[in-house]
Amino acid sequence: MQSLVDTPKVAYFSMEIALESSIPTYAGGLGVLAGDTLRSGADLGVPMLGVTLLHRKGYFEQRLDGQGNQTELPAIWKPERVLDPMESCTTISIEGRKVQLRAWRYVIRGVGGHTVPVYLLDTALAENSPYDQTLTDFLYGGDHHYRLCQEVILGIGGIQMLDALGHSHLEIYHMNEGHPALINLALIQQQLAGRALSSVTEQDRQGLRRKCIFTTHTPVPAGHDQFPKDLVRQVLGAEQADALEGAGCFTDGTLNMTYMALKCSHYINGVAMHHAEISRGMFPNYPIRAITNGVHAVTWTCPAFRDLHDRHFPEWRRDNLYLRYAVGIPLAEIKAAHALAKRALLEEIKNNNGVQLEESIMTIGFARRATAYKRANLLFTDLDRLRRIADRVGPFQIVLGGKAHFQDAAGKAMIRRVFEAAALLKDKIKVVYMENYDIHWGQLITSGVDLWLNTPERPYEASGTSGMKAALNGVPSLSVPDGWWFEGHVEGVTGWDVGQEETPESPSQEVSDLYNNLEQTILPMFYGRPDAYTGVMRSTIALNGSFFNTQRMVSQYLLNAFREEPALTAPQVLVELLRPEKTMPGQSNKTST
Ligand SMILES: *Cc1c(COP(=O)(O)O)cnc(C)c1O
Repeated sequence: MQSLVDTPKVAYFSMEIALESSIPTYAGGLGVLAGDTLRSGADLGVPMLGVTLLHRKGYFEQRLDGQGNQTELPAIWKPERVLDPMESCTTISIEGRKVQLRAWRYVIRGVGGHTVPVYLLDTALAENSPYDQTLTDFLYGGDHHYRLCQEVILGIGGIQMLDALGHSHLEIYHMNEGHPALINLALIQQQLAGRALSSVTEQDRQGLRRKCIFTTHTPVPAGHDQFPKDLVRQVLGAEQADALEGAGCFTDGTLNMTYMALKCSHYINGVAMHHAEISRGMFPNYPIRAITNGVHAVTWTCPAFRDLHDRHFPEWRRDNLYLRYAVGIPLAEIKAAHALAKRALLEEIKNNNGVQLEESIMTIGFARRATAYKRANLLFTDLDRLRRIADRVGPFQIVLGGKAHFQDAAGKAMIRRVFEAAALLKDKIKVVYMENYDIHWGQLITSGVDLWLNTPERPYEASGTSGMKAALNGVPSLSVPDGWWFEGHVEGVTGWDVGQEETPESPSQEVSDLYNNLEQTILPMFYGRPDAYTGVMRSTIALNGSFFNTQRMVSQYLLNAFREEPALTAPQVLVELLRPEKTMPGQSNKTST
């Protein structure tokens, strides 16, 4: 391993970064991952910084009426209360207009005191037009035009701002998903130092690639960020649009941010083993490796388990591998810590919507962005079967949460269907849907339930991270094999599969598998062999908590990605060996074998 002393200085760019619950600048998993990455970077002493937008009006605050109809309110917050204003400014060009940017700083302090600054870019300055002042208001708001302007601010504005702030010795630029891909345009312009964009040589491109790495998160082509050519011309200017087209960043007449990021990076990875495989299928010309996501262990471990771990292996806060020693914690202590976490969740639910759930009843959790592929309502496919299971085997109650993007009609309809099911089940099975799912509720729900349910449509879940949060708190998963679960699943030890891994099942088969598992395995164990269930909770922490954390993940980025030269993969080694100039002294310059 390279020592931390010569670890390259890394700038991490992400459209969303979840810093803390009072700063609503994230929509879901991508932002939480970004925040957790930087928190672990700080813990490990990595010289890194983060760049994102201010999102003055946040993502949104969710309101749900009695039928589950969602309305969105701006999530107004006060940057000046939690962030430091920076004096430096920079000016970028959008549609030929000069737009002034400033930055606010948030400082993440690691377990050993090392700090990682995060810069949040802001256009709400009196010098800018009223419209330009709104460009850093809403995360994932507006139309294509608004989004492209935001990506210009993040990518081009971000690079210029780092320069203005004096961060001149950065060596690695990490793109978290394709949104920041325009950093490549800004970096190449810096390299050209005044030369025209049309004069870019292969050597310039190589210089750029040496600096950039890219993490892709999207397992389906439709999910990748794209902008029509006319719009790109209008917003960026003709010279820039032509240069991007010349560099092969367009597909079918649209600027494809994923292609731009792929072409400009020397290291590319997917966010789980399975997702890297799928990404190689989508982009066969690129060497896409895997670094599986994680979560920040201390952030996502509830107070009761933090105390428990502190008593048994206090080193776990700086070295998450100690979680493996959870195997040595007596079952009674696991049970007691979980009971505290469950009580904390049920109390908060009672305080918020008046529903009193039972501490002794098996509680199933499902909370994530309400979007169609996550299938929040798969569990509610056959309400009679659910009632029968509760009658014959044992009672259960269900806690859900999740916001639908304001333009996602299918996601909103899914929430309404969950409310319908909840109303129909109410005499037999209590179902609560908590409003305004965020980091705070994420912490409570993933730690306070007894079982974490995950039923995405395959292969849409690139990784998924909420099940990792649950695992840190000893909550096993009942999950469709997709994303991280291919690696995290050990049947009956860390949870249970819905369906088989090799071939995706039809939705009706998945539903029947899900019900059979609850009826024949999980509920009978929970009520009939409670110590066995606590044993599963314990092995879930030891096996999955110790691996699926961002400390392991950032260490893997250090070993494999944060280098200026690509780590050689097997096929590349062959290419190198076959190059004439690389042959051993005394050998002939054969180029084929
Ligand atoms: C962890 C988290 C997510 C991501 O959960 P997935 O299982 O990856 O969908 C989304 N939103 C919030 C608030 C979270 O804490």
